[in-house]
Amino acid sequence: MVISPSPHPSPVKGEGVSKIMSVAYIGLGSNIGDKTGNLKRAVEELGKVPENKLLAVSFFYKTEPVGEVEQDWFINAVVKIETGLAPRELLEALLDIERNLGRVREIKWGPRIIDLDILLYDDLVVEEEGLTIPHPYLHERGFVLAPLAEIAPAYVHPRLKKSISELLSVLKDSKKIERMEESR
Ligand code: AMP
Repeated sequence: MVISPSPHPSPVKGEGVSKIMSVAYIGLGSNIGDKTGNLKRAVEELGKVPENKLLAVSFFYKTEPVGEVEQDWFINAVVKIETGLAPRELLEALLDIERNLGRVREIKWGPRIIDLDILLYDDLVVEEEGLTIPHPYLHERGFVLAPLAEIAPAYVHPRLKKSISELLSVLKDSKKIERMEESR
């Protein structure tokens, strides 16, 4: 169920058909194998989806894992895209990319080759079976807020009504995160 419709859809003129385009922020994470390479491939794949256009990529961050499972540090980043896909279609596209990059569904909170999450999609609030937007943990995680604040500091969280930079400034997350200068 879509609770609040986007107030800012932007029609784009195509070949005779105008398409409603939206802006979405995608969170990326990897902690198996060539983590930086996995993130770069995922960014490339996101941009290859015909309905998507890459607008911005954050720096990459080395981040301490959250949760009980003992596992290697992650590399995380956030990508801004313009998309002609509806939220559910975008989720399907992300799951396809995860599968193509070799991810198999493992234990919750466990290690993963690639994890792709819809963090924000226009100003939508979606609470459906299998899809929650804004992402339910977005505001609790430094590894999401730090890269998101780089590329969307003024974006107002549509449920919490606070900007991303405000959410980051009041964040109580003791997990270590380190920006990687050479990435992207
Ligand atoms: P995980 O890979 O552990 O992050 O979980 C992925 C599952 O979470 C997907 O199969 C979705 O059904 C569900 N999910 C719910 N909300 C979201 C979201 N905003 N972005 C990505 N996955 C979501």
